[in-house]
Amino acid sequence: MTESDGVFDVGTQPSGVERVVNVRLSTRYGEFLAIGYRDLARGDEQIALVHGDVTGEEALARLHSECLTGDAFGSRHCECGDQLSAALKAIAAEGRGVLVYLRGHEGRGIGLLAKLQAMRLQAEGLDTVEANLALGLPADARDYQVAAEVLHDLRVRSVRLLSNNPRKREALLRHGVGVSEQVPLLMPPRQENLAYLLTKRDRMDHCLPHLDAVVQRT
Ligand SMILES: [Zn+2]
Repeated sequence: MTESDGVFDVGTQPSGVERVVNVRLSTRYGEFLAIGYRDLARGDEQIALVHGDVTGEEALARLHSECLTGDAFGSRHCECGDQLSAALKAIAAEGRGVLVYLRGHEGRGIGLLAKLQAMRLQAEGLDTVEANLALGLPADARDYQVAAEVLHDLRVRSVRLLSNNPRKREALLRHGVGVSEQVPLLMPPRQENLAYLLTKRDRMDHCLPHLDAVVQRT
């Protein structure tokens, strides 16, 4: 990165991802190759879990936004942990696929501590969008460029995207990744996360048709 005469030279900014390490990872869902990347633009560490041979192929793919409380602690306030398990299970069952675990996406990109603050506001009655905005932060600050760069590095031909979020599909297409299909990843709602899921459906355009029957019953 250089600067001369006060003019920032964008041509010298690093971009893309660097593949740093490959290692076998045996999981409860199956065998994966864990590939560690460095995001050259931001310096972040990222990881992809690859099952089977995806080079030149159409691959089942999940872009999973990190959620420490859901993924690791089993929080019942969101569906992230359930989706992470279901996605890895589906990829292993399919025999070929990739999960890109997107670090830096806590709380839809606002960071872990801000997400915890937003959760306090949600406990007081705000929805997830209102809570982020009340903190002066964007409702959704996530960027999927690094995910697209990882998929390009893996040379997948196209993806069948495991997601209910149309914005992920649009982002991949914008970054030159073919999306042949969007595959729903619908988790049964719980009392603790129903409002969270309805906000996703009603304010963030997520495709969650399975909630209709639940809402009619309540
Ligand atoms: Zn979560």
